[in-house]
Amino acid sequence: MTDQLRVRDRVKDKVQDAGNGAGNNAPQQATRQAGETLPGYDYLIVGAGFAGAVLAERLAHLGRRVLIVDRRPHIGGNAYDRYDDAGVLIHPYGPHIFHTNSAAVFEYLSQFTQWRPYQHRVLASVDGQLLPMPINLDTVNSLYGLNLTAPQLEGYFASVAEPVAEVKTSEDVVVSRVGRDLYNKFFRGYTRKQWALDPSELDASVTARVPTRANRDGRYFTDTYQAMPLHGYTRLFERLLASPNISVMLNTDYRDIAELLPWRHMIYTGPLDAYFDYRYGRLPYRSLNFEHVTLPREQAQEVGTVNHPNDYGYTRVSEFKHITGQSHAQTSLVYEYPTAEGDPYYPVPRPENAALAARYAADAECEPGVTFVGRLANYRYYNMDQVVAQALKVFRDLEGEGAATNQAATEQAKGAGQQDAALAVAGR
Ligand SMILES: Cc1cc2nc3c(=O)[nH]c(=O)nc-3n(C[C@H](O)[C@H](O)[C@H](O)COP(=O)(O)OP(=O)(O)OC[C@H]3O[C@@H](n4cnc5c(N)ncnc54)[C@H](O)[C@@H]3O)c2cc1C
Repeated sequence: MTDQLRVRDRVKDKVQDAGNGAGNNAPQQATRQAGETLPGYDYLIVGAGFAGAVLAERLAHLGRRVLIVDRRPHIGGNAYDRYDDAGVLIHPYGPHIFHTNSAAVFEYLSQFTQWRPYQHRVLASVDGQLLPMPINLDTVNSLYGLNLTAPQLEGYFASVAEPVAEVKTSEDVVVSRVGRDLYNKFFRGYTRKQWALDPSELDASVTARVPTRANRDGRYFTDTYQAMPLHGYTRLFERLLASPNISVMLNTDYRDIAELLPWRHMIYTGPLDAYFDYRYGRLPYRSLNFEHVTLPREQAQEVGTVNHPNDYGYTRVSEFKHITGQSHAQTSLVYEYPTAEGDPYYPVPRPENAALAARYAADAECEPGVTFVGRLANYRYYNMDQVVAQALKVFRDLEGEGAATNQAATEQAKGAGQQDAALAVAGR
């Protein structure tokens, strides 16, 4: 037997295993008899996170045959959740809080889950106090022992703000709004830990994600829809992938099977540079080491997340039961230690990295029969709702032409990128 035939047999076993529900969370596959020839697929989808799973669901709903592969042993991508040894529902890849202003995204996902209303709160440990983040009226009053009103707070910020001629860096964003002391206490240390760079070396966009508020609103997000999947993300993904038109193959790099199975169009949600064998060099990412702990008490901290901008090697500690609403005699927390090595989590937002990503994106545009979707394939930090919105948009464009010609489908996806820069495909 040749090597290729042996591999082909292994592939066949894997598809059938996936179909029989083997592996973590593998949904049921349409009945397939032993000895039947391998199926052809309309779509090969690389990655079973939100980008891949939403597209799989939409395409399968149209009757397309979809094979979705992930090299991890589970579906859900970074949003995957599971029960730990103590029976507490945890997010192995860090706390994932769902929030969106898009009614369309919320309604779409509501077909696959019920929700538990949840508004995330974050406190920062500064000068021996736990203070609200983003910085608001209570943060300033407690930190400095003041009794300012909301209108007075704006005046206070104005009095301590440093004039900056042109706001270019993260440091500029913060000092020009709230002054140097708040910058040093809340932002500088956190940013240096998170990125191993000083805020003066980082694009303004990084800190622009964390607003300050001249009121007492202590919510971390202000989106219209803030809720957690009632039974967790993994259950949501199981439902997204439940169609008999979808086969799931886990523990599989797409490169091991792409040439062994017939498929017509690829949807790629993995890293952009990896697809092109790093031909222009690696796109830099920041990663995290997660330390998960379980404590023998019901609650460990006041809120879902406590930031530690100035002490310890970790940036923040999150307690899952606040987020999931689970009742349990014990509690599980995760400590996040930023690192340069490991899974690609945060694209490093510097101009030279954006330029490198643009070179890869130009190649992606010319790649026939492949559509690049999701955070890794765009080299952008996207929240879950943004990825869902992008996947739905790509689907609408693919749906117009079907998969009759791969090039046409790719062109459609390109069009989506041009029309909506914020939810662009492959960095376009
Ligand atoms: C620590 C952290 C916390 C976050 N918190 C939030 C939050 O609170 N709220 C929020 O909205 N968003 C949050 N996000 C962002 C969220 O994780 C993403 O928006 C979402 O996971 C993106 O989905 P995706 O499908 O694009 O990518 P992913 O979920 O990363 O899925 C891509 C999949 O592709 C697979 N893959 C890659 N290469 C290959 C290959 N060669 N072969 C086979 N499979 C491959 C990977 O294994 C992965 O499972 C957070 C991100 C991080 C890192």
